[in-house]
Amino acid sequence: MEGEAVAYIELRDVTFFYPQEKKPVLSEVNLTIEKKGITALSGSNGSGKTTLTKVMIGVCKPCKGDVYLDGRSIKDYTLAEIGRRIGYVFQNPEMQLFCSTVAEEVGFGLSNRGCAPESVKGKVDFYLDYFDLTAYKNTFPLHLSQGEKQRIAIAAVLANEADFLILDEPTTGLDDCRKKRLEDYLKKTALLGKGVLLISHDESFVNSLAQKVVTIEKGQIISDGNLREVVSNEA
Ligand code: ADP
Repeated sequence: MEGEAVAYIELRDVTFFYPQEKKPVLSEVNLTIEKKGITALSGSNGSGKTTLTKVMIGVCKPCKGDVYLDGRSIKDYTLAEIGRRIGYVFQNPEMQLFCSTVAEEVGFGLSNRGCAPESVKGKVDFYLDYFDLTAYKNTFPLHLSQGEKQRIAIAAVLANEADFLILDEPTTGLDDCRKKRLEDYLKKTALLGKGVLLISHDESFVNSLAQKVVTIEKGQIISDGNLREVVSNEA
């Protein structure tokens, strides 16, 4: 049917407990996210935002209910297959930095997928330049500052050019100029028909990007999909 929303990520009656915990962190969550536009996931600290996104990428497995990705149960995918569809920037960049140089880190996903070395190099150079990391390309990532690690983690995920991006507090440690670059990139990504799910306490960042806001409190979705005007911050 024309105009009908097509689910890319779908949670059906998902309940999730962390091991040893008595209370569920997510309770019977039903949620549909499309593979287009930018959605913000809001809610107070501890409401379950990060856990919800980890369920979406198969890192946290529901105790009850199902998760579907692009129409198929997430149980039918390997984590690598999910990773090719959904790029995920973790809240703590150190969670995803493991290579010995910044350039290797940014190109890891592409090389791992078997992309030709020239194409990997071209993309790595682009993302290093875009996030002002060229000067550190031969540096050990974990020796850099928190803000630089954050930019490497973002560059490494964006370089993979997945169909859908989940970013958990991506502006931590970014100055206004780098934040604007990320904002511009995400707007272009959305215009290319890709989807973005954003967790951020940075109100101006969310206001300038999110077309839709989903709110979670105490592990339950309390509002799903208020469409909103994107605030233009063009001069
Ligand atoms: P948010 O992203 O909204 O701040 P989280 O999903 O990080 O919320 O956390 C939701 C709840 O789950 C919190 O009460 C938090 O303390 C708890 N929690 C998060 N991670 C773990 C874990 N690994 N083990 C046990 N409890 C956890």
